[in-house]
Amino acid sequence: MTSTTSPINRIGHWIDGQIYSDPQSRTQAIYNPATGEVSGQVEIASEQTVQKAIASAQKAFKGWAATPALRRARVLHNYLNLLNENLDKLAALITAEHGKVFSDAQGEVMRGIEIVEFACGAPQLLKGDYTEQVSTNIDNWTVRQPLGVVAGITPFNFPCMVPMWMFPMALACGNSFILKPSERDPSASLLMASLLKEAGLPDGVFNVIQGDKVAVDTLIDAPEVQALSFVGSTPIAQAIYTRSANQGKRVQALGGAKNHMVVLPDANLDAAVDGLIGAAYGSAGERCMAISVAVLVGNIGDRVVERLKERALALKIGDGMDDRSEMGPVITREALERIHSYIQSGVDQGATLVVDGRDVTVPDHENGFFTGGTLFDHVTPEMTIYQEEIFGPVLACVRCKTLEEAIELINAHAYGNGVALYTSDGHSAREFGRHIQVGMVGINVPIPVPMAWHGFGGWKKSLFGDMHAYGEEGVRFYTKQKSIMQRWPETIAAGADFAMPTTK
Ligand code: NAD
Repeated sequence: MTSTTSPINRIGHWIDGQIYSDPQSRTQAIYNPATGEVSGQVEIASEQTVQKAIASAQKAFKGWAATPALRRARVLHNYLNLLNENLDKLAALITAEHGKVFSDAQGEVMRGIEIVEFACGAPQLLKGDYTEQVSTNIDNWTVRQPLGVVAGITPFNFPCMVPMWMFPMALACGNSFILKPSERDPSASLLMASLLKEAGLPDGVFNVIQGDKVAVDTLIDAPEVQALSFVGSTPIAQAIYTRSANQGKRVQALGGAKNHMVVLPDANLDAAVDGLIGAAYGSAGERCMAISVAVLVGNIGDRVVERLKERALALKIGDGMDDRSEMGPVITREALERIHSYIQSGVDQGATLVVDGRDVTVPDHENGFFTGGTLFDHVTPEMTIYQEEIFGPVLACVRCKTLEEAIELINAHAYGNGVALYTSDGHSAREFGRHIQVGMVGINVPIPVPMAWHGFGGWKKSLFGDMHAYGEEGVRFYTKQKSIMQRWPETIAAGADFAMPTTK
C-alpha cells in the first residue's frame, strides 16, 4: 500500500495557513470504497514535517491566546456560516473516501456543526468564578487559561465530526491545534482547514498533519504539545494514553465499543426493530455507537429475529452517492476480510447464522468493498463475535430471561461506550439507567450520541482518561484552572504572621 510513485491526486498537509507538500514524502493510497479504485495518494508525514507544524502552532499560540474570547468566538461564528454553506461539499468528500451514504455523511457534518455552535459560547464558558471577601479585604477568583499547542488524532469513521469534537473547543479556549486525521479519508480535513482560514483564523493556529504512527509519536514526544485527544480503537487508545501520561501530558483517549440494545417484552416491537436495523447496519456498522448486540428478553426472541431477518435481507446496499442506497461499502478490502473472518468464527463457534452478508454483490461495483447485513442468533458470551468489536454490519442476538440478567451481561462486558433499552415501562427504564455500567444510555433511542453541550464518552475500555469529549468537559480539558487571591489593603503594616492564614 505504501509507495513513492508520483500520484494524480496527492493530498498533503496544512501548515501555517497553507497546503504543505514534501515531494520526498512516503505516500499511501486512498480508495473509493464503492469501486475499489485508488482515488489519490496521501502523504505520510516525516518527523521533520510534524516538527514544522509544531513550530508553526507554537508561534501562533501567544497571539491567539491573547485574543479576547469574544473575538475568537466571532471567528468560529464565521466558520459556522462557511460550514453550513459547504455542508454538501464536505459530505461528498466523506462519501467518496469513507463510503457511507450521502445522507449519513450530511448528518455527520451537521453533528460537527453543532459543536461549533456550542463553542461559539466560549466567552460565557470561560468566565470563571469569583468570591468577594473570602477574608477581610481579600477576594478569590478562578480563571481558565489555554494550555498551548494541543493535538487531536482521529479515526476513519467520522472524518469530519470527530475532529470537530475537538478543535472548535480547543480553539475557542485559546489553544493552537494540530490535527492528525485518519490516513484513509484525509481530504475533509484540508477543506475544514481552508474554511477556518477563510473564517479569519490566524495562520498557524490550526494545522493538519497527514500520517501514521511516526506522526503520532512525534506529537506525543514533543515537549511543546501540552495535551492529546485521541479517538480510535482500544489498543491504540491505550498505547497513546500510556505513552502520553508517562510524560505527564493531559490525555483523553476514546476507544472501541460493543454496544448492546436490550428489548423487553413490553417494548413497541416495530420501533425496536427499526432501531436495531438502523443502528446495526447504518454506516455499515462502522460507528462507535453502532448496536452490535441485541439482547432479547423473555418470549419475544423468535418474533424479533424473524422480523430482523426480513429487514436484513431487504437492505439496499450500493454506492453511497446513489440515493436509493441504505448502506454503503466498508472502508477497505482488509476491513472486509476482517469482518468476513469474524462471521466465519461465529459459524465455527456454534452461533446460528440467520443472514449471511458475505453473499452480497453490487451490480457494476464488483470491486467495491461491499458486504451485506449479517444476522446471528443464539450468540453466547464466550464467542469471539460477542466479545470483540467487529466494526462492520454484523448483529448478534443474545437471549436473556430477565432485565436483571441483561444488565448483568452488559456490565460484565469489557467495553462500555453506548447502550439502549426498548421498553414501555418507566420503572424498568429507570432501573436500567441507574445500574448499567455504560457511559451513554438511550431509552427507546438507539444511538444516544449526546448533544454538543452534554459531552461524549464511554466507560471501561471505551475511554482512557477522565474527561469526556466536548461540552463543558471539553472546556475543562482544553484549559487549566488558576486561582488568584488578592488583597488591596489600606497600607497598614501589622507584623509578620507565622501561623497558617485563616479567615479573620
Ligand atoms: P485506529 O485506532 O486504527 O486509528 C485511529 C487513529 O490512530 C488514526 O488517525 C490512525 O492513523 C492512528 N493510528 C493507527 N495506528 C496507530 C499506532 N500504532 N500508533 C499511533 N497512532 C496510530 O482506528 P480506526 O480504524 O481509524 O477507527 C475505528 C475505531 O475507532 C473503532 O475501534 C471505533 O470503535 C473507534 N471509534 C471510537 C469512537 C469513540 O468515541 N469511542 C468514535 C469513533 C471511532
